[in-house]
Amino acid sequence: MSNKIFKSVWSAALAVFAVSLALILGLCYSYFSAVQVNQLKIETQLAARGAAICGMDFFTGSGDEQALEAENYRVTWIASDGSVLYDSAADESSMENHLAREEVQTALAEGYGESSRYSATLSEKQLYAAQLLPNGTVLRLSIRQAAVWTLLLGFLPLICVVILFALALSFLLAYRLSKKIVEPINALDLDHPLRYVDEPDYREIAPLLRRLEEQQTQLKSDQEKLERTSLIRQEFTANASHELKTPLHAISGYAELLENGMVRDTDVRPFAGKIRAESQRMTKLVEDIIDLTALDNGGGMQREDTDLYRIAENAIDSLESTAEAAQVTLRLQGESAPLRGIPSVLYSIIYNLCDNGIRYNHAGGHVTISVEPSPGSVTLTVQDDGIGIPQPHQERIFERFYQVDKSRSKAAGGTGLGLSIVKRGALLHHAAIALESVPDKGSAFTVTFPAA
Ligand code: ADP
Repeated sequence: MSNKIFKSVWSAALAVFAVSLALILGLCYSYFSAVQVNQLKIETQLAARGAAICGMDFFTGSGDEQALEAENYRVTWIASDGSVLYDSAADESSMENHLAREEVQTALAEGYGESSRYSATLSEKQLYAAQLLPNGTVLRLSIRQAAVWTLLLGFLPLICVVILFALALSFLLAYRLSKKIVEPINALDLDHPLRYVDEPDYREIAPLLRRLEEQQTQLKSDQEKLERTSLIRQEFTANASHELKTPLHAISGYAELLENGMVRDTDVRPFAGKIRAESQRMTKLVEDIIDLTALDNGGGMQREDTDLYRIAENAIDSLESTAEAAQVTLRLQGESAPLRGIPSVLYSIIYNLCDNGIRYNHAGGHVTISVEPSPGSVTLTVQDDGIGIPQPHQERIFERFYQVDKSRSKAAGGTGLGLSIVKRGALLHHAAIALESVPDKGSAFTVTFPAA
């Protein structure tokens, strides 16, 4: 970056220098041209006075006097009819009539005239100044107009020195500037970028510092989220292993007693029943863990157009025998409720809520499921007249492996994961869950799904 800044600064400095040099040369050229024109005017007027007093001898010389040496100047004397009387650079007899020349015309009309043009006689750009003499003739002086490159050539050594000086100076400036820009950036403490906002060296990059700060905050929050998720996973794995170990220990204990012949023949059947119950519990636990893991991973589950009422019918069908065994009556109310969602997850939600309604109930109890579509949402309510949930537990029952009464839940075949599955499934459907429960009166779980 430092290298790039250096190159940019250096090339900008050189560009400014080159443009300034060209401008200065242009200005010099027009200034010198103006000086040249002005000088020629004065010289022409002086020469005209001399010529008016001495006649042609002023230029050509007479007797002992030598001809006027005017190396750079060309002198032309033109009669009032335009014929050339004398020319210092060419043979006047072969020269054409000069009456049409612009400067001669102006001089004849106004006393003095000037012009600049390409001279056919001398093959170069000439400046002309003409002065009318009292006898009606015109004296004209001309000089070669310096071209730009002539001026450049004259200045060349000086220009070279200035260019070298400018190169060295801009190199030094670019080097120091790039270092000055990059140094504070490299010295930044990225963990606390806002600390520098008010410092003079950092004022220009304040927006960058603010963005860095935002990013840092975002990173920290992401990091915290990751750590929290990882902690929850660890806890879940530990709890799951613990919950699985309990029935496994029981199974192996019963099996050992049977193996060692320590169970009376009449007790073998009840022992086998216990082993079956524990393995069923394990199976249920493993199934719930698989369900929950799939929900946690979320992806891969296809949403489709479903009907929550039909799904409720299916769930009730599968729970019919359980309800009968528990002497609980299942009822379904409501009407067809189209919903876009994941059918297997919606089924799990209804199944788990109804299953709880049956298990945490008394003989002769009721579980009422109602599915009510309304504009913008579909409401599922699972209400029972069972044991209810005491207020302090109501908030925590959706936590994984949380059970109000461990032994009762275990006896009822619970795993502590049913409501976690309900909560996770509702979250996947952006649905809200509400609970109303009164101990010994019953509970009502309401899940409100936003319609697609
Ligand atoms: P479990 O498999 O133990 O039923 P859940 O996550 O489904 O686990 O429920 C957590 C706890 O919430 C249960 O152990 C039970 O104590 C309580 N609970 C859930 N549903 C009901 C209900 N309908 N009536 C009374 N208690 C309930």
